[in-house]
Amino acid sequence: MPVPMPTTTTRWRCTQCGNLTRFDVTRSTRLTEYVHLDLGGEPRIEETEVLSETVESVRCRWCNTADRIELVDRPGAAGTEDGTAAAGDGADDSTDTEAGPGQG
Ligand SMILES: [Zn+2]
Repeated sequence: MPVPMPTTTTRWRCTQCGNLTRFDVTRSTRLTEYVHLDLGGEPRIEETEVLSETVESVRCRWCNTADRIELVDRPGAAGTEDGTAAAGDGADDSTDTEAGPGQG
């Protein structure tokens, strides 16, 4: 039984290593797409309606454990009236390199 999705007041936590921020989430989504093709035949998805979504597994990115993830309360989730103390976790650089010899 996979761990449920976090809500606005909860978050995932790996009980094995304490990871709070990096997870591999496998989920299956059933959806309906409104595909609009132009006269040249090029499709474009203009609307997406999610019919159902199931989380199959949540795996810790650090220690690769899938069955030790639990839901915990977010810090300051209860009664956030004064003081917005949020600890940012630095920059996240994503390198996207696409190399492929001759496609099409
Ligand atoms: Zn972990």
